Amino acid sequence: MRFTILLLTICILQQGFSQAELSDMSKNYILRNVNIIPINKDTILKNQMVIITGNKITLITDDNDKAFQPVDRYSFIDCKDKFLMPGLADMHAHFPEYNELKNYLTLNLLAGVTSIRSMRGDETHLNIKKDKNLPQLNLYLSSPPITKTLTIDKKTADSIVTVSKENGFVFLKVLSIKDSLSFTNLAAACKTHSFPFCGHGLSNISMPLLLKSGYNSIEHLTGYAENLNKGDTYVDKLIKLTTKHKVYNCATEDYFELGYNMQSITDLKKRNGLKYIADTTIVKWDKEITEDQTKIGDSKLKEQRETYIKMRGIKNKILVSLVKNNAQLLIGADAGSNYSIPGFALLEEMKHHSNAGLTNYQVLCAATINAAKYMNQSKKWGTVEINKEANLILLNANPLIDLNNLNSVEGVFINSEHKTVKELESGLK
Ligand SMILES: [Zn+2]
Repeated sequence: MRFTILLLTICILQQGFSQAELSDMSKNYILRNVNIIPINKDTILKNQMVIITGNKITLITDDNDKAFQPVDRYSFIDCKDKFLMPGLADMHAHFPEYNELKNYLTLNLLAGVTSIRSMRGDETHLNIKKDKNLPQLNLYLSSPPITKTLTIDKKTADSIVTVSKENGFVFLKVLSIKDSLSFTNLAAACKTHSFPFCGHGLSNISMPLLLKSGYNSIEHLTGYAENLNKGDTYVDKLIKLTTKHKVYNCATEDYFELGYNMQSITDLKKRNGLKYIADTTIVKWDKEITEDQTKIGDSKLKEQRETYIKMRGIKNKILVSLVKNNAQLLIGADAGSNYSIPGFALLEEMKHHSNAGLTNYQVLCAATINAAKYMNQSKKWGTVEINKEANLILLNANPLIDLNNLNSVEGVFINSEHKTVKELESGLK
């Protein structure tokens, strides 16, 4: 009886998809007995059946059915004791050279990262989505960055935004800016063309002006601690403005931890994803780190670490205050340093947020639904719900209990594809 109901359900689910679409779909899946971390609530839905038709979640229901029979065009996946959650989003990423992209994107999938915001755009990135040799993730591409070398009058601002938009980039990244007139011209052009812009806090632009300008994310938590000399009340005002103008923050703390030599080589060897890195590369990294630390010298290194620990304390307080005031956070690893493994560095970044005082649920939201909201895509992905895209990861352990359990990815669903870790590993060079 139950099986008949299932067949009927699937027939209903297939309505709305043309025959061609159905046979085009590489595969459709029925996930059995899966525990869902839906993210729209801080909860777990135990023993669920999830049906994925093409790139969509078409049914979620209690799974009480023992019958296991093949269904036309649908494959069963036994998910007993496994956890299904939205794919992770790395919101501060830098792509490598084009010939290294296949490995880079595959490593991201292996770490459960299905969406990436590229923070240093290049014209070559526009080819990625057309390249059949590359794994297809959700990519949000920035145009080549704006820097202080450029004087931006109204006409230049309009042309930068128009060309970026026409080329297929989805936002502008600002590294630095020549002067306040260049900034206001750029902000006005972005507003006229409804084109997002974001980037570093800018030393020559006041934070209130920046926060009110339409700038939609600040990288590395720049601009807050720098204003502490104006007093706590002033920084509180900046935090309130951040919330009011819906400016997201992407702290990228892991980048600083590595940059300030905070971890010994022994600790670095415990980082996630290292098993995918060639021994020769690790030897090269160790040599570079040792040489760098020797050059700095023990006492300077100690001093440098102490300075960083102080700064980290201040930034952690700001991070917690942003959350308390309902400002939104994104998670981005800014990977690229030695021992910062693409995709896997995101978990390290998430752990920094947890150490700062956020709950695991808050950190998981920042790495999923917040990113979707930020990209205006929350109707499509970021939670596990019917009619959302199957942008999902399957884990062997529960990350709400321990974020390290994100290191147990078993498979990913993205763009109508399901890939197991084994399949992904076979695609690595
Ligand atoms: Zn960066």
